[in-house]
Amino acid sequence: MVRLDDLVRKMSEHGWRVTDQRKTLANIFLETQSYLTPREVYERMGRHYNGLSYDTVYRNLRSMAEIGLIEQATLDDVVKFKLHCAEHHHHHHLICVKCEKTFSFVFCPLDHAPPMPDQFTALSHKFEVYGLCKDCNQEPAS
Ligand SMILES: [Zn+2]
Ligand SMILES: [Zn+2]
Ligand SMILES: [Zn+2]
Repeated sequence: MVRLDDLVRKMSEHGWRVTDQRKTLANIFLETQSYLTPREVYERMGRHYNGLSYDTVYRNLRSMAEIGLIEQATLDDVVKFKLHCAEHHHHHHLICVKCEKTFSFVFCPLDHAPPMPDQFTALSHKFEVYGLCKDCNQEPAS
């Protein structure tokens, strides 16, 4: 279970100023535990701060993803963010397309890839598996 303390500590470890705004951002993700679009985060932030710009919120989300506080996924071509899994090892995600519940999957296809051609250096990669979780699988079709 990730707590606010953990997130705040990680921010300071990266030399961030832990502002009230960033704490609120962290809390939004702690409360939600599922995917949020930048727009949804922005709307929730707007309840606390007047005159906050969407760009500022989006920039903060990108930075939070860079230092591993939150994770990014693309669902229906929309970029969404959620709290980082408790899983510390490099992992990927199984995402339920119905309820958007996410499971960490400690497996990396790159570990099993052949050598890259033309001395290509991989810097990052994406691998997400979309499907139905156990609960959604059992729901009778309506
Ligand atoms: Zn994860
Ligand atoms: Zn589901
Ligand atoms: Zn990987």
